[in-house]
Amino acid sequence: MITENVKKLLAEIPQANPQGEAVTLVAAVKMQTPEAINEAICAGVRAIGDNHVQEFKEKYDLIEGNPERHFIGHLQTNKVKYLIGKVDLYHSVDRYNLAEELSKRSAAAGITSNILVQINIGNEETKGGFELDEARDACERIAKLPALKIEGLMAMLPFIDDEAELRRLATLMRSKYDELKADFPAFKHLSMGMSGDWKLCVECGSNMIRLGTSIFGPRHYD
Ligand SMILES: *Cc1c(COP(=O)(O)O)cnc(C)c1O
Repeated sequence: MITENVKKLLAEIPQANPQGEAVTLVAAVKMQTPEAINEAICAGVRAIGDNHVQEFKEKYDLIEGNPERHFIGHLQTNKVKYLIGKVDLYHSVDRYNLAEELSKRSAAAGITSNILVQINIGNEETKGGFELDEARDACERIAKLPALKIEGLMAMLPFIDDEAELRRLATLMRSKYDELKADFPAFKHLSMGMSGDWKLCVECGSNMIRLGTSIFGPRHYD
């Protein structure tokens, strides 16, 4: 099924969003086996995103086809050291002290790490990230850290059924992204959209979507 799902998605995901930017598919691989992930890569997935450091470490050497490695989950500061030099893009930089730790460890390793600043667009207590109004301040502060490159913003829309409200929030994210892009020249990714809402997100200007269920099927938490 995975191969069919990926082929169907790659055909379905528009070549470009309304702003004319290519839309990048990141496979959200939490709880998936290396075999399943490798099948998705074989079918055309070019980037994979992990949530858990332990899983990332266990699977790291078992992944074939040299995809981009992204980290998309909440990241504990004390686990940053396991990821340095192995992650092409950190989506979930949701607090300043995480950025500091990423910068410190990257500098010590002699590398620059690429990050996205996570915005809590729905102001949800259960989600991490800066408030939309804090986005500029956060980017300006983080940009002063030496070994990081801020490549854009990441957000998760709330799980609500109100499509008009979801569009409003996704459009707000795009406006903030455009506003900041004018001042942060390395901005190129707006990572927004999961299996349930990616179409709406791309229509509102997302250029990077993170899909799990629609590639691998439902996850079994047990
Ligand atoms: C799990 C996860 C996704 C993918 O979720 P699906 O609904 O299965 O597509 C995307 N982003 C993050 C941060 C995730 O943790």
